[in-house]
Amino acid sequence: MLMKTYQVDENGYYGEFGGAYIPEILHRCVEELRNSYLQVLESEEFRKEFMSMLRDYVGRPSPLYLAERLSEKYRCKIYLKREDLNHTGAHKINNAIGQILLAKRMGKKRIIAETGAGQHGVATATVCALMGMECVIYMGKTDIERQHMNVERMKMLGAEVKPVTSGNMTLKDATNEAIRDWCCHSADTYYVIGSTVGPHPYPDMVARLQSVISKEIQNQLAEHEGRSYPDYLIACVGGGSNAAGTIYHYLDDERVKIVLAEAGGKGIESLMSAATIQLGRLGIIHGARTLVMQNEDGQILEPYSISAGLDYPGIGPMHANLARQHRATVFAINDDEAVKAAFELTRLEGIIPALESAHALGVLGKLAFHPEDVVVLTVSGRGDKDLETYLNY
Ligand SMILES: *Cc1c(COP(=O)(O)O)cnc(C)c1O
Repeated sequence: MLMKTYQVDENGYYGEFGGAYIPEILHRCVEELRNSYLQVLESEEFRKEFMSMLRDYVGRPSPLYLAERLSEKYRCKIYLKREDLNHTGAHKINNAIGQILLAKRMGKKRIIAETGAGQHGVATATVCALMGMECVIYMGKTDIERQHMNVERMKMLGAEVKPVTSGNMTLKDATNEAIRDWCCHSADTYYVIGSTVGPHPYPDMVARLQSVISKEIQNQLAEHEGRSYPDYLIACVGGGSNAAGTIYHYLDDERVKIVLAEAGGKGIESLMSAATIQLGRLGIIHGARTLVMQNEDGQILEPYSISAGLDYPGIGPMHANLARQHRATVFAINDDEAVKAAFELTRLEGIIPALESAHALGVLGKLAFHPEDVVVLTVSGRGDKDLETYLNY
């Protein structure tokens, strides 16, 4: 039977995107992960522990909030999925808990991760403190200087933050160092990837761990609206994990329109952009075949966005395929549009969103809604970390 699906296939591909393009030395680690993740994630015992931590530690379910004044402005019914209210202030904690629970079950003692803006590093360090695991975070030296607060947080949580001084000293370079560490210590070390990127099975695993978001949306919409699906789902995309979580249970439900917001930066013609879906070409990054921002020679271009969490030069293979198949509509939201949307939400609803989430809000003005449309927009994180940027803009 040929059923069209947007989920991963058994080889780790979403259409032509995905797979595992890794050095020989990592083959065994990735294979080990691939052989254990589904069995563990689907086991009763894991599910029980994961769900109870999401409830009692993270504070889930996160509210689905009907934003009345925002709805009035855009002439439709807008619900906000409040991931900003999670412990540590964003959706990333869902994934960190899930992967570290998995690492424990695989007998690993040491956790490593890379971080750009520091949000994934903080989530990972948080869960390591909670579970008493050794934690090493790789971070580019440039990012360490830009994201001082998050570095201090990770240190206070007991993580070792290792500065990376190769290349541009940003996320891509930190990732290379983390992979190098994993190669050297694969017997006792687990590598936590923070988004739906990297070699298979990471994109699928992270999407499954974040899918608690769409599961909750189904239940909450059924309660509020008497039907479990919306007309629109809107989320921002860096690597794609909050978006994947938001759409997971609706991927194959064509009644639901999927709208993704990537970071346009100063505009997609400006060369200062992170709009990978619009600007990227097929390539390999971080172990996956996907759209990559690159020059003629295949050199990866340094992306730019006002939002540190969205300036990744690749994109999750799931999302590349959704765009290629026209299952998702993708908008590039520029810095100024995102900042404007953040102020609008703040003044209409008293919610200061993360700069990343503000890109999702920036989409609202670009769609033509019917008054009866039900829209669910994920506020992936809170804006406390971005206050200075907002006020200086
Ligand atoms: C990291 C981050 C993002 C981008 O990552 P995704 O994997 O695309 O979700 C978005 N919003 C917030 C608040 C983040 O911290």
